[in-house]
Amino acid sequence: MADFDVAIVGGGHNGLVTAAYLAKAGTRVVVLERRAFVGGAAITEEPWPGYRVNTFSYVAGLLRPEIVADLELARFGYETILFEPQAFCPFPDGRSLSLYSDTQRSQKEIAKFSARDARAYPKYEEYWDGVLALIQPLLLAPPASLGELAAAFPGPEVEALVRNLFLRSAQDLLDEWFESDELKAVLATNAVIGEMVGPRTPGTAYVLAHHNIGTIDGRRRVWGFAKGGMGRITEAMAAAAHHFGARIWTSASVRAVNVRDGVATGVTLENGEFIESRAVASSVDAQHTYLELLPRDAVPPEVVRDVQRIRSRGAALKFNARLDGLPKFPAAPKTPGPHHAGAIEICPSTEYLERAFDDGKYGRFSSRPFLDCEIQSVADRSMAPKGHHVMTCFVQYAPYDLQESSWDDFKPEAAERILDTYAEFAPNIRKVVKEWQIVSPLDIERTLGMTGGNIFQGSITPDQIFGYRPIVGWARYRTPVQGLYLCGSAAHPGGGVTGAPGHNAAQAILEDLPSLPR
Ligand SMILES: Cc1cc2nc3c(=O)[nH]c(=O)nc-3n(C[C@H](O)[C@H](O)[C@H](O)COP(=O)(O)OP(=O)(O)OC[C@H]3O[C@@H](n4cnc5c(N)ncnc54)[C@H](O)[C@@H]3O)c2cc1C
Repeated sequence: MADFDVAIVGGGHNGLVTAAYLAKAGTRVVVLERRAFVGGAAITEEPWPGYRVNTFSYVAGLLRPEIVADLELARFGYETILFEPQAFCPFPDGRSLSLYSDTQRSQKEIAKFSARDARAYPKYEEYWDGVLALIQPLLLAPPASLGELAAAFPGPEVEALVRNLFLRSAQDLLDEWFESDELKAVLATNAVIGEMVGPRTPGTAYVLAHHNIGTIDGRRRVWGFAKGGMGRITEAMAAAAHHFGARIWTSASVRAVNVRDGVATGVTLENGEFIESRAVASSVDAQHTYLELLPRDAVPPEVVRDVQRIRSRGAALKFNARLDGLPKFPAAPKTPGPHHAGAIEICPSTEYLERAFDDGKYGRFSSRPFLDCEIQSVADRSMAPKGHHVMTCFVQYAPYDLQESSWDDFKPEAAERILDTYAEFAPNIRKVVKEWQIVSPLDIERTLGMTGGNIFQGSITPDQIFGYRPIVGWARYRTPVQGLYLCGSAAHPGGGVTGAPGHNAAQAILEDLPSLPR
């Protein structure tokens, strides 16, 4: 008899979700994590004692509520804080725009820029509610191709929606709704996050939709913090998996997936240990799984070719810092002020964002990058010592294939550009930043195994989602090797701390297990 029913490669949040569902269903599961701790991209560390830093992933809300309920995550410490404002954006002319989870509150702010846009905003939110009513049920189910999706929802309205989401740019979509570029700039940030695309790139309307699926405390399209940091989410998942009976081994790097006669039979660890299992679920990306863990002759050459063609060019870096005060924005001078408690967007126009992308497109770090910054310690005092703060900035565009230098050498220069840009909007930033760290796309690849440093284990543009993810023909968690599954963000519905790929893969494995060899 095999040592386990299922061996799971990688203990990021999706590996843990797969493990928890499988264990809950009574299967014998082991999670094998290369690092000394689980969590993958959803971890919180203390690079400076007492300062809790979300090294990679930093805002919560995408995790599917069904998973939170099924795995009883609240019982194991999962808690979220909806932050307000949802976005605060200062402008060079001294004005600022804040958007809130509350529509009327947002309308008042938008009216400062355009009365017409303020009137249109509730309808824009309704539009997204309609989109989400279609998309949300598709997240916790195996993917269909875009063609199948379009055919499943006939009718001109849905056809228009499919055209908008999958074929058009965020800029096109936003231009149809609004006249104020300030509002469009704030909204467009969610259309490019993590991707080497600009707001004018076709398909970015879908990326915007993907970042609109969040739910916190029953409120839709919102973001928040995981109380205590993102690591608390994966700690809760590990505790749940353990509670249901899964084994979790850390410092257990998988060197190979073992295959006999086209069937996965287990894994070999770096230390040479064999673990026999009836199935293997890999939560690392498709490139790592197919091209490094499997023997080359285990899959047809056309599958290898398609995997090699997956686009996963990293576009972002993290700038994490400890502060001994708060940035002071002339556009909102009260310090501390309500604007410090949520997301601070340094993105003064859609052209600014597109130009920042232009640099990245040609392999240059943006001369004036787009910054998405959160100071979680304002809303969650557990994150930093009294009177001090932690700030995390998601910075674009930071191309993985940097032309001007190597990422290891370029960090001080990148930090200078980030701080120069920030200082245009908050001149005291250099004074309050006491120490910083940069997590480059190369660090993301080296630490987590995300090819190209792409934060989603492969771009989530329309050509790489639903039935196209990770490759056409093998999108439903299964692979050409019988008993080998993909359960990470490389699979539908893609990146973000959603838990959905892990959930869906577990269902596919449970369906197949009775027919797999003992
Ligand atoms: C910088 C950054 C910022 C992000 N920001 C957000 C955000 O704010 N909100 C959000 O929702 N999403 C965000 N994301 C995306 C989200 O974090 C990821 O999509 C998600 O966490 C990936 O989870 P996963 O379990 O699929 O993969 P991972 O978390 O990558 O887990 C894979 C695990 O496999 C392990 N591993 C790799 N190779 C091996 C091997 N050979 N043997 C054993 N183990 C191995 C790795 O160490 C890792 O723990 C961000 C991602 C990054 C990188």
